[in-house]
Amino acid sequence: MSKQEFKAESKRLLELMINSIYTHKEIFLRELISNASDAIDKRYYKALTREDLKFNKEDFFIKVIPDKEKRTLRVLDTGIGMTKEELEDNLGTIAKSGSLAFKNENEVKEGIDIIGQFGIGFYSAFMVADHITVKTKALDSDEAYRWESDGVEGYTIETAEKADAGTEVIIKVRENTEEENYDEYLEDHRLQEIIKKYSDFVRYPIKMDLTTQ
Ligand code: ADP
Ligand code: MG
Repeated sequence: MSKQEFKAESKRLLELMINSIYTHKEIFLRELISNASDAIDKRYYKALTREDLKFNKEDFFIKVIPDKEKRTLRVLDTGIGMTKEELEDNLGTIAKSGSLAFKNENEVKEGIDIIGQFGIGFYSAFMVADHITVKTKALDSDEAYRWESDGVEGYTIETAEKADAGTEVIIKVRENTEEENYDEYLEDHRLQEIIKKYSDFVRYPIKMDLTTQ
C-alpha cells in the first residue's frame, strides 16, 4: 500500500480547510449529504435504463451515524459507489477547480464566507475531522476499496470488505480545543439541526439511528 500525494491545487485547499477559522464548519455535513444524494441519483438513473437493476424506493437512503465513544461520524449512502479509479480521480484531486480559482480571486473582497456560498465539497470534512476513511463499492463491481487520509500527507487506497454497493464516509471528529468545540458533531440533536438547516430539500430519506446513543 503506497501513499499518494494530493495534487498541488487540492493540497492548497486542504491546508485551507485544516487550518480553517471558518465559523460555519457545520456545512461539511451538507457537503457529505449532497455527495450521497448525487450518488443515489446516479444509481437511480442507471436503474431506469437497465432491466436487470430493480430498485425499490426504500433502497435509496442516506444514513448519519455518530459514535461518541469512537469519536466517529459516519455518512452512508446506497448510491452508485466508486471504483478504484474513480476514488483516485475524485478524492485525489479537487473536482471543482473552478471554485478554487474563484475563491482565490474573491477571498479578500468577500471574506472567507465565500466557502458557504460555494459547494466546497468533500474536503470540507477536514474542517472537523483529523482522519477520513471512505469505504466504497461501485455498482456492478465485486471489489470494495478503502480510501484513507489524515489530510496533509496524502491518501492511501486498499481493498476492503463491503457487502453492498454504495459509499460510507467515516470521519474521525477532532478533539475539542480551547477555541473550538467539535463534540457537537457527535450530538444527535445538533446533527439533526444541521440536517434540517441545510439538507431539508434532499429527496432521499436521511436516517439517524436515535436508539444507539
Ligand atoms: P462535487 O460534489 O462538487 O463534484 P466533491 O468534492 O463534493 O465535489 O466530490 C468530489 C467527487 O467525489 C464527486 O464528484 C463524486 O464523483 C465523488 N464522490 C464524493 N462522495 C461520493 C459518494 N458518497 N458516492 C459516490 N461518489 C462520491
Ligand atoms: Mg459535492
